[in-house]
Amino acid sequence: MWSEVAQVIESNQRFVVTSHVNPDGDSIGSALALCEFLRAQGKDAVVMMSDAIPMVYRWLDPHEKIMAPVRPEEVQHIMEAEAIFILDVNSWERLGSFGNAVRDCAGVKVVIDHHPYKALITPVSIVKTEACSTSELIFQLIDHLGGPITGLAADALYTGVLTDTGSFRFANTTSAAHEITSRLLGIGVQPARIYDLVYNQNSTARTRLMGRVLSDIRFAGRGQVAWLSVTQAMIKEAAALPEDTSGFVDITMTIAGVEIGIIFVEAPEGTIRISLRSRGVKDVNKVAASLGGGGHKNASGIVYKGTLAEAIEAVTTEAVAAL
Ligand code: 5GP
Ligand code: MN
Repeated sequence: MWSEVAQVIESNQRFVVTSHVNPDGDSIGSALALCEFLRAQGKDAVVMMSDAIPMVYRWLDPHEKIMAPVRPEEVQHIMEAEAIFILDVNSWERLGSFGNAVRDCAGVKVVIDHHPYKALITPVSIVKTEACSTSELIFQLIDHLGGPITGLAADALYTGVLTDTGSFRFANTTSAAHEITSRLLGIGVQPARIYDLVYNQNSTARTRLMGRVLSDIRFAGRGQVAWLSVTQAMIKEAAALPEDTSGFVDITMTIAGVEIGIIFVEAPEGTIRISLRSRGVKDVNKVAASLGGGGHKNASGIVYKGTLAEAIEAVTTEAVAAL
């Protein structure tokens, strides 16, 4: 399964590793670990992300391998790369500001991802929806090629598995996820340390915003759909950061009887960023796909062009229909 990818690594020198907009623990973890591995092979490699790295993941990159958010003049690196790894995503649009540059550049493109897809964007694609995370796939790749998995790469891969499995509690928490975790702990990963660094860093502003947002929770579909909404004014009033709403949607799923949880976040550029979560057979990927988004059956997202009220109307209607 890895021979074509191995061939790309062997036969090229200059690499760019990239991933989706709004980078998360898995996109950052998988990209850093792959970059670390490429450099250990004597390759020139850099991670490029369209959006900034959230504060809770910056400790993963002490040697500043990541360029993010990428500035227009830095897009040149993409044009000069011989090979580009596109991780945790399988579309040009979700690469963000430099998606077209990646699509049109001369370098060979490799996709490694675990999201469901309709069509592949490049012939060299490893897309395994059964993998808990892209970090699981990067672990397998590095392991297949004989390592090394350095301490930094182990922390990065563990962070990817931890965050994409919702701390080992989502349905994608497979025996393979635990086996990889066991190997990473063997390399020296300290789970309590990483959990603290990723999840126990709330600012008082974020905590206040959470309280404000939760106090206004709404329900539809006889209590089976719960939704939260966050306006720019609420974020400003709490002196919070845009990224401070991450994770709020998961709280809706702790409520008894809720099958689908949704958060609507008014983004500064005027779009509405929507995250959806569901339990069991309820499919929020279909809900998201019907409105131009995507993701997985139990966790998906949409960037909605319209007002907050329009987004709420459209998405809650589809969510109730999906019950
Ligand atoms: P989150 O709600 O944590 O941002 O995203 C949950 C899942 O939905 C992730 O797997 C992410 O890749 C996917 N996702 C989030 N937003 C979008 C979007 O706008 N388009 C697509 N295709 N997928 C998205
Ligand atoms: Mn992922």
